[in-house]
Amino acid sequence: MSGTIYLDNNATTAVAPEVLDAMMPYLQGEYGNPSSMYSMAGRAGKAIATAREQVASLLGAQPEEIIFTACGTESDATAILGAFEAQPEKRHFITSRVEHSAVIALGQLLQQRGCRVTWLDVDDKGRLDMDQYRDALTDDTALVSLMYANNETGTVFPVPQAAALANGRGIRFHTDAVQAVGKIPINLSALPVDYLALSGHKLHAPKGIGALYVRRGSPFRPFMIGGHQERGRRAGTENVPYIVGLGKACELAAAHIKDENTRVKALRDKLEEGLLRNIPDAIINGDRENRLPNTMNISFKYVEGEAILLLLDQEGICASSGSACTSGSLEPSHVLRSMGVPFTYAHGSVRLSLSRFTTEVEISKTVDALTRIIARLREISPFRNLPDDAAPGDCKHCSCSCS
Ligand code: PLP
Repeated sequence: MSGTIYLDNNATTAVAPEVLDAMMPYLQGEYGNPSSMYSMAGRAGKAIATAREQVASLLGAQPEEIIFTACGTESDATAILGAFEAQPEKRHFITSRVEHSAVIALGQLLQQRGCRVTWLDVDDKGRLDMDQYRDALTDDTALVSLMYANNETGTVFPVPQAAALANGRGIRFHTDAVQAVGKIPINLSALPVDYLALSGHKLHAPKGIGALYVRRGSPFRPFMIGGHQERGRRAGTENVPYIVGLGKACELAAAHIKDENTRVKALRDKLEEGLLRNIPDAIINGDRENRLPNTMNISFKYVEGEAILLLLDQEGICASSGSACTSGSLEPSHVLRSMGVPFTYAHGSVRLSLSRFTTEVEISKTVDALTRIIARLREISPFRNLPDDAAPGDCKHCSCSCS
């Protein structure tokens, strides 16, 4: 939309024009089912093979290690439930408290099924407790699942070290890399992970397409059963145009990854520096030393994230907040709560996530807009007179239970 400043790229991204161009033939004339026998079907099959190579190439994987799915959530579920089904003698799962709900819900499901789940803690910067992790690994551990990078703060987990520790003990390792793929380099030929989940709509392909990497020889059971598609590993007629789009998006991501880590990172840093310079009582949530180059999560003391988002929206700026409105109360996200972000800050958190389409002008406009918005909201804030160590009951503003 013209005039819109889109800074919510960790939620979803715009489809790249080259991706749409690559998809169009398969939405129009080339609509053959790849399982059929005629040449139009063969062309669709060939397009899928090319896409599989493009995805594999971005990750340093072999094409036959890539399975196309409908989304990141399906990839996570396939990897995690499949690993447990394939190793029925093992009943322990390790994950972290700050995973995306796609993984948290699976941990809860495994718990309901009688498995033991270790939920690893993070520190105030969202960094994993590696000692706790090392101690949690047992002979009964079927699988470890740790996200590559956090969707809210951008904090990058030490996946290479964590995977090596699991691997050394013969324990399978899954990583939800939905936010990392295309933003930071990942080379699976040198990374001992068994499974990796990715999602097209986070890297300029459309929503509704994802992929799962399964290392050759790692235990696996299909989640979707039926037809023989994806060599029997994911049944269902292939979504040819979207698979082609994901392939193209991965090819583009490989070409742009340097830009992501220089130009986009510089814009993110400029945004962050501008906000911290102009606005007192603001803190950055996450590990500033080890973060996705496109992501920042900032908390403004005494204001509410939702109010900030509404006023930003009035200025055409799209962002996300770190609190969710559930049953009339504004609860800080499970990620910020796990990090122990103080009450007076946690409510006022905003995530701004950039992409290769973000411009310098947009960053300057956002610094100006947020500076005005925070000053205005602070004038009318019900939190203004709360002490730093405020407890939930001290705030009469809402009925949340955060602390
Ligand atoms: N994992 C992470 C870290 C995410 O950020 C998301 C989406 O926000 C998902 C999984 C789910 O991906 P999808 O929307 O493709 O199901």
